[in-house]
Amino acid sequence: MKYIDYYEVLKVPKTASGKEIKQAYRKLAREHHPDLHQGEAKARAEEKFKLINEAYEVLGDEEKRAKYDRLGMNWQAGDEFGANPSNMGGHAYTYQGPADFDLGSFGFSDFFSRLFGEDFMHSRQGGGQAGRTKHKGEDIDAEISLTVEELIQGVEKELHLSAPAPCTACAGQRFTQRGVCRTCGGTGFIDETKTVKVKIPAKLHPGASLRLRGLGGKGYGDGPAGDLYLRIRVAPNAAWQIKGSDLEAELMLYPDQAVLGDKIQVPTPYGSVQLKIQPGVHAGQRLRLREKGLPKENGVGDLYLRMRIDIAKTQTEAEKELYRKIRELRNPGRVY
Ligand SMILES: [Zn+2]
Repeated sequence: MKYIDYYEVLKVPKTASGKEIKQAYRKLAREHHPDLHQGEAKARAEEKFKLINEAYEVLGDEEKRAKYDRLGMNWQAGDEFGANPSNMGGHAYTYQGPADFDLGSFGFSDFFSRLFGEDFMHSRQGGGQAGRTKHKGEDIDAEISLTVEELIQGVEKELHLSAPAPCTACAGQRFTQRGVCRTCGGTGFIDETKTVKVKIPAKLHPGASLRLRGLGGKGYGDGPAGDLYLRIRVAPNAAWQIKGSDLEAELMLYPDQAVLGDKIQVPTPYGSVQLKIQPGVHAGQRLRLREKGLPKENGVGDLYLRMRIDIAKTQTEAEKELYRKIRELRNPGRVY
């Protein structure tokens, strides 16, 4: 019987965390799902699929993984396993396992059956159908893009999410009486789409992650649902240019306001504020409104108003007459 390197099968390092192992397993199980292949490739995928499931059955379970790791110190992939140690040059470990279980019908190798056969049968007998195990559902990550105003003022949003739910055919157990569950491909879950309403509080900073309890994947058995981690993004729009945590917008002034100054109401994402324009401002000049920008981790950015000087769409004859006077003052005696 050959020793099988399950880490190699899942392409993860020996130091991989439980989460990394789960991710690697899901990716490979999807890739090699026999239903996705045909002909010769199907047979190969089936073999590979069995092995991937077997590797996850071991590495995805803390106890089995520890047992396997203890054993692995003395074996290399492909070594004869369980042979008489005296023939095995250097390998000091003698395997004293339970009597052999034949789990071939579940798609397990002799190596697995020999090592974990009894454990596997116990864990499967512990409860038959639904409800015997109790795990928290999957935590899921999602992202939401908000306008500057929504970010600053807070908003309620409807989200369409794809969340993993326990497979109904195997109750999340990955195996049925006949072997690897075909419904979920042995992953133990199926993707369920759902719509949730979330309340996003005011003044979160872009990049913040909001934890929403119970909005993740459904729990297994009586376990609670997982959480939703919602990452907050902010999208630029015509009104506000985003520069880090500062905002920039254009402020249009008429020539008389630029020359004489004025007191005006200007819009900000926090509502309108009164602004004093000093006499003699120039186009392109920027005015800073402190803490009217985007929230950041420790404080709030600023809002810059870049001035543009323009004339009204139409001018009355009286206004034109005044401009002519200004021109006359600038260039006395010039004929046009
Ligand atoms: Zn299933």
